Amino acid sequence: MTEATNELVKLSAAEMGAAIKKGDVSSRELVDAHLAVIEAAEPSIKAFLKVSGDVAREQADAFDAKSADEKAALPQLAGVPIAIKDMIVTKGIETTAASKILEGWIPPYDATVIEKLKAAGMPILGKTNLDEFAQGSSTEHSAYQTTHNPWDTDRVPGGSGGGSASAVAAFEAPLALGTDTGGSIRQPGALTGTVGVKPTYGGVSRFGAIAMASSLDQIGPVSRTVLDSALLQEIIGGNDRRDSTSIPEGPRPMVAAAREGAKRDLKGVKVGLIKELSGDGFQAGVSARFNEAVDKLKEMGAEVVEVSCPRLEYALGAYYIIMPSEVSSNLARYDGMRYGLRVMPPAGVPQTAANMMAYTREAGFGDEVKRRIILGTYALSAGYYDAWYGSAQKVRTLIIEDFKKAFEQVDVLVCPTSPTTAFKLGEKTSDPLAMYMNDIATIPANLAGVPAMSIPAGLSDDGLPVGFQFIAPQQRDEVMYKPAAALEAALEEDWNGPIWKDLKAPWLDGLAGSAK
Ligand code: GLN
Repeated sequence: MTEATNELVKLSAAEMGAAIKKGDVSSRELVDAHLAVIEAAEPSIKAFLKVSGDVAREQADAFDAKSADEKAALPQLAGVPIAIKDMIVTKGIETTAASKILEGWIPPYDATVIEKLKAAGMPILGKTNLDEFAQGSSTEHSAYQTTHNPWDTDRVPGGSGGGSASAVAAFEAPLALGTDTGGSIRQPGALTGTVGVKPTYGGVSRFGAIAMASSLDQIGPVSRTVLDSALLQEIIGGNDRRDSTSIPEGPRPMVAAAREGAKRDLKGVKVGLIKELSGDGFQAGVSARFNEAVDKLKEMGAEVVEVSCPRLEYALGAYYIIMPSEVSSNLARYDGMRYGLRVMPPAGVPQTAANMMAYTREAGFGDEVKRRIILGTYALSAGYYDAWYGSAQKVRTLIIEDFKKAFEQVDVLVCPTSPTTAFKLGEKTSDPLAMYMNDIATIPANLAGVPAMSIPAGLSDDGLPVGFQFIAPQQRDEVMYKPAAALEAALEEDWNGPIWKDLKAPWLDGLAGSAK
């Protein structure tokens, strides 16, 4: 290894891939370096539910043993390790969705995205923590552990994909996969200073993604740079006959768009500021960084106009009807018969199948999941269906129309990703509504099925990362990558390097092979 562990893990995934291709580093060395960071960081970060070190080493060795020609034919990220949100099914590696109801479940198959990562020679470092069944905005609803934000370990990393975001922010993994139903990739991205992408609905196969709300769920990349997400999305994207909502066309040219953006010329790009998602309700430090970033876009030649999407006001309300309705139906499969936990009724209670299911579900699901199952069951019940689910679906159509109209005027929409920076652990756990408000700016893209991404826009006055969100038209994911890469390049010039240089990561000090 030419570089010390704590320098190696700070490379971007694209740089790691290039170093592998040049023969400067092996996949095994990269895996070992990240496993060393994981060991040092996990006591304070707790991003991983399971570290699959043996699997990763085996995969890395198999990759390293390939011939030069075989390696050259693989994607740029070949040999680069990755962490996987425990909402995605991995053959032979326990998959729990951070729920007690799935404890001990070893899937007999891989999700399509995992098959694709394996084909690309990317070793799997482990499974990352999340709010149980991806339901939450802080990762505090995991049945197993609470993940901490690497920028301030007294604070949440966001959710539900706080494990993937923290792992990437803490240099435990250069890349991760997340799932985003209402913001679970982008909001943790904002709170941890990472890049998080929700692709167009249907752009990445959902086969093997544990279903939360199927009309909203989408798997996407978590990374430290825009280019890294583009490279990863091109690997995991594309049609899959095992997902009936998968788009027939292959992935869009996102890598080319990111490389084009890095030239920092945005002449001809029309950017729309979403009027309803700015100002009031957003923390002052968030708005300040957002506005400065918008000025950067203008300096690079973008034309910036304000755009109104009046019906976005109702997005949160519609989401918290549609999502629980789908949750209640998707989670009906956890009945103690087929997977994971089974709790038999105590002596004296009739030992019926119905009682077994009731005891299993009572013991296996946490409070937040139960809250949503009950809400959803109510919203779908006869007599209330039209008033609740039916109305919410109509609102969804109006939101789709708002975006359509907006994209007749502009190429890409922007707003802050999250109204606040990372909040304190425990601050919002007893107030579900306060927790739900986190998703106000991320949910609309899920309801409309359009692609969106969050990139770091700097640190707020409190020293914590702020996220900047780009939203693009459906099936035009590349459209957001260009301005995102341009903004990243411009901001990094101002900061004299990536946002990471301000992260104190004491777990990197004292690693074997560390630079002094
Ligand atoms: N925070 C949102 C929720 O709790 C988003 C979840 C997600 O995207 N998986 O529903």
